[in-house]
Amino acid sequence: MVSSTRFIDSHAHIDGPEYDGDRDEVIQRARDAGLRAILTVGTGDPHSGALERAIQLAEDHADIFAAIGTHPHDARLFDDAAAERINKLIKESSRVIAWGEIGLDYHYDNSPRDVQREVFRRQLTLAREAGLPVIIHTREAEDDTIDILRSEWSDANLRGIMHCFSGSLQLAEAALSLGFLISFAGVLTFKKADELRDVARQVPLERLLIETDCPYLTPVPFRGRRNEPAHVVEVARCLAGIHDKSFDEMGDITTNNFARLFGLESIL
Ligand SMILES: [Zn+2]
Ligand SMILES: [Zn+2]
Repeated sequence: MVSSTRFIDSHAHIDGPEYDGDRDEVIQRARDAGLRAILTVGTGDPHSGALERAIQLAEDHADIFAAIGTHPHDARLFDDAAAERINKLIKESSRVIAWGEIGLDYHYDNSPRDVQREVFRRQLTLAREAGLPVIIHTREAEDDTIDILRSEWSDANLRGIMHCFSGSLQLAEAALSLGFLISFAGVLTFKKADELRDVARQVPLERLLIETDCPYLTPVPFRGRRNEPAHVVEVARCLAGIHDKSFDEMGDITTNNFARLFGLESIL
C-alpha cells in the first residue's frame, strides 16, 4: 500500500555491504513507510568499484538516485585517474544527481588536512564542470569549509546539501547564504541535542531536508540497531515538532525541497 505521506531520505548508504543480506527488504520497508525516494551516496576508494555499486542500485530502482564522490576520509586516494573515473561514471548514468559526499573531516583526520582541502577544492571545480549540486560533509572544520565554499562555490548556482548537519548556527547561516539546503539526521532526535534543535529551528522551512546517513546514526527510538531509510520518518517527526508543523506537512516540505533542488518535481 502506498501511503499519501511523502518522505525522502536525502542521504543513505544502502549500497554498502551492511545491506547485502536484506537490501530488498530494507527498500520495501522504506516504501511502506512512505518514502518516495532515497539518495544513496557512493563513497570509498574511487578506484575500487565502490562507486559503481551505488549507481547500479539507482539504475535498478526508479525511486533510488545516486551521488558519487570522494569522501574527505579517502581524500588521499583521490588523483587524476579518480577524477576521470568519476566524471566518466557521471556521464554514463543519468541516475547520478549529485557530486558527493565531499568536504572536510578534522575529527577523524583519516587523510592529511592539506590533502583534504586540496581534494575538496578540486571536486568542487569538477562538480561545477559536470553541472551537479554537491553534498557536503563537514566535521570540526567549519571555518575552512566555509572559506572554501565561499571561494569555489558562491557563484556556481548549482547549490547543494549540508548533510548530517551538526554544526553551529554560524555554519548554518553561512551555508544558507550560499544557497545550501540543510539536512538533519538522527542526531536531531538524541536527548542531548538541544543545541542542534535550536539551530534547526532557525533554518527556514524551504531549506530543510531529512536523512538517515544509514547505516550510522540510528534515531531514537531505534538507537543501537543498524539504521535504515524507513527510520527517516523519526527525523521528520522531530523536525515537525521543532517547527510546529504536522508530521505529514514536514514530509511534504522536505520532499518538495529535495525535488526542487534536483529538478525532480514531476516525479516526486
Ligand atoms: Zn558524511
Ligand atoms: Zn554519508
